[in-house]
Amino acid sequence: MSTQYGEKQRSSDKAVTTVDAVVIGAGFSGLYQLLCLRDKLGLSVKVLEKGDGVGGTWYWNRYPGARCDSESHSYCYFFSRELLEEWEWSERYPEPPEILRYLNHVADKFDLKRDIEFGTLVTAARYDEAANLWDIETESGRRYRTTYLITAVGCISSANIPDIPGLRDFKGEWYHTGQWPHEGVDFSGKRVGQIGTGSTGIQAAPVIAAKAAHLTVFQRTANYSVPARNAPLSDEFKQYVHEHHDEIRQIVQSTPNGHPFRISERKVFDLDPAQRQAVYDAAWEKGGLQFRAAFQDLLANKAANDTAAEFLKNKIRGIVRDPETAEALADIDHPYAAKRPPIDTNYFETFNRDNVTLVNLRKDPIERITPSGIKTREHEYELDVIVFATGFDALTGTLLRLNIEGRDGATLRDFWKAGPKTYLGLQVPGFPNLFTITGPGSPSVLCNMPVAIEQHVEWITNCIAYMREHAIDRCEALPEATDKWVEHVNEAANATLLPQVKHSWYLGANIPGKPRVFMPYAGGMARYRAICDDVAAKGYEGFVFSRRGEDTATALNDFTAATTISSPGV
Ligand code: NAP
Repeated sequence: MSTQYGEKQRSSDKAVTTVDAVVIGAGFSGLYQLLCLRDKLGLSVKVLEKGDGVGGTWYWNRYPGARCDSESHSYCYFFSRELLEEWEWSERYPEPPEILRYLNHVADKFDLKRDIEFGTLVTAARYDEAANLWDIETESGRRYRTTYLITAVGCISSANIPDIPGLRDFKGEWYHTGQWPHEGVDFSGKRVGQIGTGSTGIQAAPVIAAKAAHLTVFQRTANYSVPARNAPLSDEFKQYVHEHHDEIRQIVQSTPNGHPFRISERKVFDLDPAQRQAVYDAAWEKGGLQFRAAFQDLLANKAANDTAAEFLKNKIRGIVRDPETAEALADIDHPYAAKRPPIDTNYFETFNRDNVTLVNLRKDPIERITPSGIKTREHEYELDVIVFATGFDALTGTLLRLNIEGRDGATLRDFWKAGPKTYLGLQVPGFPNLFTITGPGSPSVLCNMPVAIEQHVEWITNCIAYMREHAIDRCEALPEATDKWVEHVNEAANATLLPQVKHSWYLGANIPGKPRVFMPYAGGMARYRAICDDVAAKGYEGFVFSRRGEDTATALNDFTAATTISSPGV
């Protein structure tokens, strides 16, 4: 039974739903993919979503202090003028409830929820070559059969709960920030231990400290942070946004990282130290992720980066009153922004509170969790609650947990044993008609996510439209094109300081046993968009299309011959 060429939903077996496309995940990417495939191409589509509502990342990440680090007026869809005009954000950086309101508004406006199966966890997906269909299994036993399988599972959705001995015996409560209880957690009067000082921990600590009797922050790697300078949006700014949608869209779609600010053209050593200090001072006052855009060479030149690093470390020393705590917080072992740079609201100030303690795990590592708290080599901390702000099995974790089997029973897990290999982050050879929105090898987490998502969804939609127009049954990345792309992803990363950081989740280094491979594409979103457009314009170069048994492979794209990478998209 083929699901191609226009027939709508059919099912000969009640337990199996057959549709043209299955999309896994109902966050930013899944919602837009559903809209495009259903309403633009007229396909029958089912979105399978583990949660009971739309929102993806924001459905799960409701920890105290959670707030998007992208500025609200750029953290949205740009495909609908009407949607842009009718929506108004309230703050510079939106909180999860506001983002969830936005995504629910989108889902309702475009009548998307009727095609979403909530509470549906996908447990396996197998490609049936004879039928050219994907068989999808879910935890509830419901099964789906589909021609196109599209993963919209997000990049940071598999929680990493470190295997610290003793957790099972802990008598208090414990939570991972990425699986936060929807009813919230009451910290009042409690002794809280927080493990982790990445973007999440840096957002959470000040808010937890304001409620808890005591907060102990367990820091393994010290981190930079720049003030977010969050504030309600002024009427003037809201007016500006309403009058400049086209310009804002043009900027986010042409900058290397998809944010609404441009990276400066000046280089660090073009200025003398006093001028440089003035630039950093102004960037600090402005706050946010755009601190890293103050100079164009911060991520390409270590000596240039050192000047930013020193500025930020001095800020920590200036804010934190206790010298030992200040030194532990400023003892940062990697270049600024070579790991994802956090932004904060009163993070370093929090360590001046009487009810907050920093534990430097580099000097005094955690030995175990006890029934009543955390035991480090030298101390024992009595705790009522442990908060794991310990990050995610990013980029590949959730994809691998889908247990995807492609041609001849080959598993994605095996194919990616030495690290993820994709063509453009969109497809994997041996897995026909499987498309991965913001997959590894695409800019994804190095970009303002909705911008990367819109580009991927539109590219996938156009590719499927092309296949249907040309009666093509199957689209699959060529192994040679994939190898070349992986080579180019490495080349792009190596033009930056990013791969030099040993403990980076960009490299999978936070997960024991995970291969150390730089996963996102660091060549910049604008450049990546141009490459994808070019591939499509050349008849989907690097993909093999098959039609009724006949294979047609296009020529290979020579990415490495393209221009050098001067402004990485990070
Ligand atoms: P993360 O950056 O991976 O940070 C995890 C933290 O936990 C690190 O400090 C890590 O230390 C520590 N850790 C992990 N295992 C540990 C162990 N066994 N013992 C002690 N410490 C341990 O995770 P995240 O903060 O959740 O952020 C992940 C990503 O999510 C961010 O980089 C960002 O892309 C995204 N995010 C976005 C927003 C936003 O836009 N609002 C907010 C939060 C997060 P080491 O560094 O030593 O490994």
